[in-house]
Amino acid sequence: MQRIVVLGGGESGVGSAILAKVKGFDVFLSDGGKLKESAKDMLNKWEIEWEEGNHSMEKILNANEVIKSPGIPEDVPLILSIKEKGIRIISEIEFAGRYCNAKKICITGSNGKTTTTSLIYYMLKNAGLNVGLAGNIGQSYAYQVATENYDYYVLELSSFQLDGMYEFKADIAILMNITPDHLDRYEFNMQNYINSKFRITQNMKEEDCFIFCQDDPITIGKLNKILLRAQMLPFSQETEVEEGAYAKDDQICIKYNGETDYIYLQELALQGKHNIYNSMAAAIAAKAIKIDKKVIRESLMTFQGVEHRMEKVLKIKDVLYINDSKATNVNSSWYALESMNTPVVWIAGGKDKGNDYSPLYDFVKDKVRVLICMGLHNEKLYECFADKVDIIVDVQSAKDAVAKAYEFAKPGETVLLSPCCASFDLFKSYEDRGNQFKEAVRNL
Ligand code: ADP
Repeated sequence: MQRIVVLGGGESGVGSAILAKVKGFDVFLSDGGKLKESAKDMLNKWEIEWEEGNHSMEKILNANEVIKSPGIPEDVPLILSIKEKGIRIISEIEFAGRYCNAKKICITGSNGKTTTTSLIYYMLKNAGLNVGLAGNIGQSYAYQVATENYDYYVLELSSFQLDGMYEFKADIAILMNITPDHLDRYEFNMQNYINSKFRITQNMKEEDCFIFCQDDPITIGKLNKILLRAQMLPFSQETEVEEGAYAKDDQICIKYNGETDYIYLQELALQGKHNIYNSMAAAIAAKAIKIDKKVIRESLMTFQGVEHRMEKVLKIKDVLYINDSKATNVNSSWYALESMNTPVVWIAGGKDKGNDYSPLYDFVKDKVRVLICMGLHNEKLYECFADKVDIIVDVQSAKDAVAKAYEFAKPGETVLLSPCCASFDLFKSYEDRGNQFKEAVRNL
């Protein structure tokens, strides 16, 4: 019997273990930390052997294949020992893809993945298709492959997931953009990160579609160096494209297979320049799977957005509070600041991943009146921004940040939590950060 070892007992690990069990493997799951009670219950229910708080090498190094959680770095001793033994390490997505005949629409990029993935899923649902949502979002892909029978999957893929993918093929691949992020995991080498993102195109054939941003110099630079067999479907806000989508005047125009559809920008449910990209990418994907243009249009007009992404919380004393806690890198905060058309009280900071803040300087000078630095180490923010804003203060909790924002904000202004940074210094996750922010706003 072939042995599969799963490392990491989060959502994707437990799902992978269950799928492996269903497919008749000898399965062992090992987690160096603590497993959630719900994970233990699931593993026990499916009669899967597991351990927590430790990695028993003798039970791991006899695997035929290892499925690694994307959260475990490549260079820790455990992974190095597995590699030394010549055991193949793959991701949940690679494993589940082997057993999934559904059409796969896969989305990656530095920013906009979750929004675009959710929007495409919404469109396919509205079109009445039998569709699953998975990857970096929702329930585990492997678990759904083990227990459901969908015709389509919309999969959000991070670069870490892509790193463990080899034979997997997307039917429709979408690359939203590439800007520096997670460089700490890529030896601070941008090319490694770019290559990782481009794995989404691997194994694609002529009948597959590749949807990408024509305005992104990094994506285009890489495309100029490689040859892809897939049908190329760009989207752009700068130039008209032959096939794909572009924004011109006050409309987006979707061109596919001899048809042209138009939607007014002001009709789009998701506003802001970044969301025009997200809407265009989703619309092309929907066209490519032959969804009716009426459904596409209505979906783009009614989609509700995703929590923690430019989420409007409340208006208090004519000050709008926006939760953009998911903005964990400079580029996403760039788009958040770009979309502001009032003076801003900006809450930023957290765990800096080697950020270069200079792309934000002009917006900050023009739009930000008050900067509230919310992190354990705010020195870099002070260094970069103290001369560009009227007021700069630091706080170490969401509650204090909101209290300061309330104190400084004037009627007509916007309080924007768009931190540019990861949340792990003060919060459990970006969701925790966003929830604490919202709660503090609601308690004002
Ligand atoms: P991801 O899943 O890639 O992290 P999200 O859809 O969750 O992306 O959005 C994260 C943040 O990035 C949002 O807060 C938003 O401000 C910003 N954002 C969303 N779409 C884009 C885009 N296409 N380009 C740049 N920034 C974006």
